[in-house]
Amino acid sequence: MGREPMEMSDLNKHYQLIVVGAGPAGSNAALTAARAGLDVLLIERDAEIGQPLACAEAVTLEGLSGFIPPNPSFISTELRGIEFNVGDAYCRKRTFGETLGLILDRPVFDRHVADMAVKEGVRLLTQAYGRGLEMNPKGPARLDIVTTRGNRTVAADYVIAADGVESLIGRQAGLETELKLDQCESALQYRVSNIDIDQHCFSFYFGLNIAPGGYLWLFPKSANSANVGIGLNPTRFHGLDLRHFLDNFLEKRFPGAKIEFRSCGQVPKFIGFELLGRENLLLAGDAARTLDSVAGAGIAKALHTGQLAAQAVISAIEKKLDNNELQKIYRQTVNEQIGRDLRFCRAAYPVFRKFNDRDWESLIDFLLKLAESRKTGASIDPVSMVKLALAGTPSLLRLARHLL
Ligand SMILES: Cc1cc2nc3c(=O)[nH]c(=O)nc-3n(C[C@H](O)[C@H](O)[C@H](O)COP(=O)(O)OP(=O)(O)OC[C@H]3O[C@@H](n4cnc5c(N)ncnc54)[C@H](O)[C@@H]3O)c2cc1C
Repeated sequence: MGREPMEMSDLNKHYQLIVVGAGPAGSNAALTAARAGLDVLLIERDAEIGQPLACAEAVTLEGLSGFIPPNPSFISTELRGIEFNVGDAYCRKRTFGETLGLILDRPVFDRHVADMAVKEGVRLLTQAYGRGLEMNPKGPARLDIVTTRGNRTVAADYVIAADGVESLIGRQAGLETELKLDQCESALQYRVSNIDIDQHCFSFYFGLNIAPGGYLWLFPKSANSANVGIGLNPTRFHGLDLRHFLDNFLEKRFPGAKIEFRSCGQVPKFIGFELLGRENLLLAGDAARTLDSVAGAGIAKALHTGQLAAQAVISAIEKKLDNNELQKIYRQTVNEQIGRDLRFCRAAYPVFRKFNDRDWESLIDFLLKLAESRKTGASIDPVSMVKLALAGTPSLLRLARHLL
């Protein structure tokens, strides 16, 4: 079922659900809906799902496995250690007995989730650009789709926009999806080879001279290659560009590194539930800005909100709910399941942006002591950890008042 190639005639019918964008949010939404028996069309603008890559590919084991069973085909490395660096002199490294996180092969992972959806009966069309959404409060939505084989307008009872940051589909529905400078970080990343690293350890670098108001990461792809990137709020560059910081870092720490390819992108911050949708349109993943605003991690939450959006549509169909009730259910479940994390990180982000090197050192010392006392890294809830750290570290108390 659903495995034969998509024909243009498939665009002549009326769908129960159209999902725009085959990233983690869109493919998991389509998969969830198809498993419940819905007739689903999934469209993706790019020719190859998951490409071009603009992601450091890190996900916690818990964040992934709640949605998609881990599979060696899309895992580059398993991470059991974490290293924190502040400035040039401070370095702390801890190794844990368990897997804390994974570095995915995102192109393979994204394709894997889309393939799972197709196996459940989803009709998937790549090189298909959703360019115009017409909402109708009393009936189906209509989406203009541009394909390499011609253009079509396709009707659907529900639409899930999982079209990433600055969602065009959300904007066409009247939602303010355009990013403002203080609502995002600009990120630049290189895939580098010819380095010698611990392939089971995440490394983070903080400090005013390294990544002012943000952080720099080195996530291993193997013992000799990594994603090395930096994310900064555009208002904090001090007239310098991201390349300046990343190139300086590589020259100093990995002078022989070879840059295989570069990528860049915007990492949006959570701004509230305004972007979750309206009428029979729901937004999921980066389109709804459901990312962890501190770390900029969005893969797990994209899978999660994709699933919740599809479940809201399934409930609406099964229980014959109107669009107000659809929106209410989606907001409620997002709020119940990830609202606390999203709000906490939103509040914490401006505080971290003000950290000086000493603040980072105090926070890291505290977090490592806490992790040590529990002999585990994976099962500590990050929100509780940061709250404890801010409350328990005297030098951070002045910042805690912004949060607690
Ligand atoms: C440099 C960088 C590093 C990052 N590192 C990490 C990390 O290590 N860990 C982590 O968890 N998160 C990371 N993120 C964030 C993460 O990549 C996103 O949160 C995640 O990809 C969101 O998934 P999504 O499905 O919502 O959107 P996306 O993955 O952006 O997918 C959206 C899809 O929609 C398609 N599309 C867009 N418009 C249309 C249209 N009109 N019609 C049809 N298709 C359309 C796009 O082609 C794309 O395939 C990083 C981001 C950046 C920029």
